[in-house]
Amino acid sequence: MSKNIDWSNLGFGYIKTDYRYVSKYKDGKWDDGAIVEDDQITLSECACVFQYCQACFEGLKAYTTADGKIVCFRPDMNAQRMADSAKRLVMPEFPIDKFVDAVHRVVEANKEFVPPYGTGASLYLRPFMIGTNPVIGVKPADEFEFRIFCTPVGPYFKGGAKPITIKVSDFDRAAPNGTGNIKAGLNYAMSLYPITVAHEEGFAENMYLDAGTRTKVEETGGANFIFVTKDGTLVTPKSDSILPSITRRSICEVAEKYCGMKVEHREVLFSEVKDFAECGLCGTAAVISPVGKIYDHGTEICFPAGMEEMGPYTKKIYDTLTGIQKCEIEGPEGWVHVIE
Ligand SMILES: *Cc1c(COP(=O)(O)O)cnc(C)c1O
Repeated sequence: MSKNIDWSNLGFGYIKTDYRYVSKYKDGKWDDGAIVEDDQITLSECACVFQYCQACFEGLKAYTTADGKIVCFRPDMNAQRMADSAKRLVMPEFPIDKFVDAVHRVVEANKEFVPPYGTGASLYLRPFMIGTNPVIGVKPADEFEFRIFCTPVGPYFKGGAKPITIKVSDFDRAAPNGTGNIKAGLNYAMSLYPITVAHEEGFAENMYLDAGTRTKVEETGGANFIFVTKDGTLVTPKSDSILPSITRRSICEVAEKYCGMKVEHREVLFSEVKDFAECGLCGTAAVISPVGKIYDHGTEICFPAGMEEMGPYTKKIYDTLTGIQKCEIEGPEGWVHVIE
């Protein structure tokens, strides 16, 4: 039985569900972990997460397929990326198998919150880890909490994926050799001001350039870029300060193996962006958001597909990847993870 929720009118906001998974780390080890009902966390005011932002997170979705299965997409990749984030923040790795098992248990427990097939909605899962014990001298915590909660979210695009307009930001997202390549809350704290300014100016997102030279394309606050050349080559920016998007890595495989495209993962100069035929943003939330226009200090770059629809290559990739996610197209081994 589904909960009585108006699935097709859901937005992207927090709705408290019945259960969450919690595991605690103390004296050098993780406990067994459990599904609990309590959505509140009570901590010392001096907990490391509050003072020094020792926190990382993940994001993935569970959804219903046409044949009634509840599935999620490549959760092992989220587990691995969270382990990489934890390492960089001097936090203990949460074991990959345990992470995937915790995803299962949270979705199973909250089955009634998984939107029915055809609504376009999904159950968004938010795994995260925080340093919990009091720390006042600057050093890592030695007690941690790992938690996964979930919330039903609506379709990212209501009434078709319209291309968006973005701006080249004067702010930087990540420093060379910094933390841009991990999913840390601190990367988002500093992006709040630039995104607020961009929204006030009427732009949907910021395009960040590399902080070192400001000549190369990095990503937006929460999505990687994909570009397509006029002759149909997929190009994705490569940099040590870009967050390795699971959607982007999946898109590269889909473009090459399913769409027969040439794929290049390399540095992308901002000066070559005007020559691309198509541009999009990719991430778990939207899969791909087409970009129609980029504003750069008084100059506009307009992509040929215009502001009404996705370009043809982007559409092909989008349809194929979402087809694999929905189990309508057979994907590579292990991509679709069946929960029940
Ligand atoms: C999460 C995130 C993405 C998208 O990653 P997916 O794994 O595809 O959801 C891209 N950029 C940043 C900065 C992110 O935090």
